[in-house]
Amino acid sequence: MEKIQVTKSSMPEFEEYVEEIRSLWESHWLTNMGEKHKKLESKLKNYLESENVILFSNGHLALEAALNAYELQGEVITSPFTFASTVHAITRNGLTPVFCDINEEDYTIDVKQIERLITKKTTAIVPIHVYGNICDVEELDKLARKYDLKVIYDAAHAFGTKIDGVPVSRFGNASMFSFHATKVFNTIEGGAIVFQNNQGQIASRLNMLKNFGITGPETVEIVGGNAKMNEFQAAMGICNLKYLSEEISKRKKIVERYMENLKNVPGIILNKIPDSVESNYAYFPVRFDNYHLNRDEVFELLLSNEITARKYFYPLANDFECYKEKYSSDDTPIAKKVSKQILTLPLYASLSLDDVDRICKLIVKGEKE
Ligand SMILES: *Cc1c(COP(=O)(O)O)cnc(C)c1O
Repeated sequence: MEKIQVTKSSMPEFEEYVEEIRSLWESHWLTNMGEKHKKLESKLKNYLESENVILFSNGHLALEAALNAYELQGEVITSPFTFASTVHAITRNGLTPVFCDINEEDYTIDVKQIERLITKKTTAIVPIHVYGNICDVEELDKLARKYDLKVIYDAAHAFGTKIDGVPVSRFGNASMFSFHATKVFNTIEGGAIVFQNNQGQIASRLNMLKNFGITGPETVEIVGGNAKMNEFQAAMGICNLKYLSEEISKRKKIVERYMENLKNVPGIILNKIPDSVESNYAYFPVRFDNYHLNRDEVFELLLSNEITARKYFYPLANDFECYKEKYSSDDTPIAKKVSKQILTLPLYASLSLDDVDRICKLIVKGEKE
């Protein structure tokens, strides 16, 4: 039987991509905000119903640039149940991450615990829409107004999701999306900062930050870096975007099959998608809580059957080598518990329902085939 990886990047037909990049052989314009870059930016504005979409070479540098663009200082509240990128982006901007615990229902930041972490030095919150589960955007909005804080979402998992029909990118000051190969929508590597109105020239600052601060042939206004999306990445995005809704509906079928198989198994906790949410079915996280196998045992069992699941997110950011001296995961007990129990199962558009059944059977039987 073929090996099953936790994900498989979506790609257009080879010929379709070749057709999309053909014009680059005529123009010889390979990067620096060319024709494909402009085309993708405008398609994404449309798709996300957002006024501003600034493309980047990857999601991480987009987030770093966003934190820089708002000229934040001091402390930034986030949660440790995330990918390394979120916390690194804060730290690499010279800011101090302050870890808030998550809630046990959807693994996003526990808004009830934010207020006690706010100090005079707090300038922003960076909440994560974990697995595409949408944070409590209303409550975050209230806190932001009450304490004059910026809210910049790590929406790397949430591309294409909506709540009550509103695209997730319309909340907070800005949202970062990742278009990495493993995400629901990919540009090979890539990312974007998306936001509504142009708050204090944020768009121009982001554009400067991704291109050395250059604003004209003889002007360099700010100390920027290089995080431009190239034309080949943009072309991949243009092709992949055409099939996105098809991809998401295939993912939905797979998720429903997983749910059917696993919903009544005692000790297995599934991710709930509220009726108000239009999901992108980015991940299928499963928690093992008083199950006869622990998370690591299920992981090993699948692996011995050539199926790779992912301990996502484990370890917690506050347990990383580079942070553990200053922080402790004991301060975020829910995140600590969840990170030891959770496993994301294989999920990609071309995963067959038979394979889903096979994976579930292994987990439910709890022994090697
Ligand atoms: C993927 C991801 C990122 C970083 O995105 P890249 O495009 O890989 O740089 C940041 N945060 C989260 C939660 C992610 O999953």
